[in-house]
Amino acid sequence: MMTISYEYEGALYVNLTNKCDCACVFCLRHNGHKGSIYADDLWLEHEPSREEALADLTARDLASYRELVFCGFGEPTFRIDDILWLVDQLKVRVPALPPTRINTNGHANLIHGRDVVPELKGRIDTVSISLNGSTAEEYCAVTQPRDGVKGWEAMLDFTKEATAYVPHVIMTIVDKDKSPEEIQHCRELAESLGAKLRVRAYIPE
Ligand code: SF4
Repeated sequence: MMTISYEYEGALYVNLTNKCDCACVFCLRHNGHKGSIYADDLWLEHEPSREEALADLTARDLASYRELVFCGFGEPTFRIDDILWLVDQLKVRVPALPPTRINTNGHANLIHGRDVVPELKGRIDTVSISLNGSTAEEYCAVTQPRDGVKGWEAMLDFTKEATAYVPHVIMTIVDKDKSPEEIQHCRELAESLGAKLRVRAYIPE
């Protein structure tokens, strides 16, 4: 069994890849985890094709969800072309398609070596970017990006650019081990890029 999509709090989450260019210290992909509190078997034996994902999604009553969220047990923008194809297909098939969101590390342009952000326009309603720290040093220590500090810069550039194409741009941090001052630094950084900061509660495994 593999889980391409699963429900959580009224939204439908879509999992298309295990790949990631980070190795966050808190990531569930490490230590042999195959699932999370959200679903049991998120580790994909193979990446579903775009057609497999479309079949999975169209078998559901999509209009009944409050949001359609591309996340993954990895970094979803490794499959950005397929995500955008899926949204186009679903918009044709489902008149009342719920708003769409991508939960991302913001590295899409770095991963693909081209600017994908303009392609989000009219397709993605919200991007939620993991900020994880208010300085390059802190960010790199927590997320261990493959490309080091370039990952930090790519994430900031992606966020700023997204605000021109996507209605809702959110940066998220987890409150664990963060002082009020650090949270305030993160808020100022997000706002300087035109994004909003969302502070999430830490969920222990
Ligand atoms: S960016 Fe997300 S998927 Fe990638 S290592 Fe970090 S938590 Fe895991």
